[in-house]
Amino acid sequence: MKGRLNKKEALNLLQNANLYELGEMAYEKKLQMHPEKITTFVVDRNINYTNVCCIDCDFCAFYRHGKDKDAYTLPFESIGKKIEELEAIGGTQILFQGGVNPKLKIEWYEELLSWISHNYPKITIHGFSAVEIAYIAKISKLSLKEVLQRLQAKGLFSIPGAGAEILSDRVRDEIAPNKCDTKTWLEVHREAHKIGMKSTATMMFGTVENDEEIIDHFDHLRNLQDETGGFRAFILWSFQSANTKLKIKHPEIKKQSSNRYLRLLALARLYLDNFKNLQSSWVTQGSLIGQLALKFGANDLGSTMMEENVVSAAGASYKMNQDEMIRLILSLGERPAKRNTAYEILEKFY
Ligand code: SF4
Repeated sequence: MKGRLNKKEALNLLQNANLYELGEMAYEKKLQMHPEKITTFVVDRNINYTNVCCIDCDFCAFYRHGKDKDAYTLPFESIGKKIEELEAIGGTQILFQGGVNPKLKIEWYEELLSWISHNYPKITIHGFSAVEIAYIAKISKLSLKEVLQRLQAKGLFSIPGAGAEILSDRVRDEIAPNKCDTKTWLEVHREAHKIGMKSTATMMFGTVENDEEIIDHFDHLRNLQDETGGFRAFILWSFQSANTKLKIKHPEIKKQSSNRYLRLLALARLYLDNFKNLQSSWVTQGSLIGQLALKFGANDLGSTMMEENVVSAAGASYKMNQDEMIRLILSLGERPAKRNTAYEILEKFY
């Protein structure tokens, strides 16, 4: 393969390539970017600080409304306890994500970040998706840039790529009509990158998108990365349908095959030629496919997932600890290493 893939070539590969050959091409591309064959992972914890959400995405089984019996917003002390448990196992990062809670304005987030930074200075805060940031800006009557700068000043290190789903307004209108549109998702990340804050990018596939929309999604991300260089990694996972409204609305939606996952992962490695890191989504695919993903372009196993509440609410319940991850990486002939949020190696296991 010569030069950069264009959209037409990518579509052709997605629809017609032999999976084995596609995997080989992706693996070769990965080795060009990671010739030392190091596969990384991070020891972190998801903290879902609130499940109250006013966005009501049809594909989501996690959210509740404010008056629901099991609605919650965690008190700072509970968050602190979770961080202490994470520190006890050598964790370095918290992935902070929640619903879009209309009661929480910028001041609550500033106070929370200050409190964590003061009490747990060694912990890196990777948190608040573009959807949350856009909503904080709206209810606090601030620009995206102002919100990001204020949160950064209080200790927010980077933002996760959640909420991208498929960056197509046709798809978004169908599966999550109240969620920020494609332009806003990209704008939040652009503004973050401009103030020196890095982020990650994601894709959730397997709802109502078509192949062209998947390629458009990759293209939006590659273009923004060309412009800013601010994405650290790309992660894709398949829609988990249990307990979701979308499954009822669209009973024809089928569980996505491992074949489809690996095909999209390999294509992402080839198309997103300016993304150094691609994560394997073993949380939705299981450890076997999660491991195989390393042969289809992934160079990172993501998090050991001390706690996960969002995809598990929709049926995915795979678990893995650090020792299992190390074994799995070694058995594939690669070198395991623990990393931090910035993808710097902290500890080698080879
Ligand atoms: S995916 Fe996020 S924004 Fe959508 S309903 Fe669930 S918690 Fe709310």
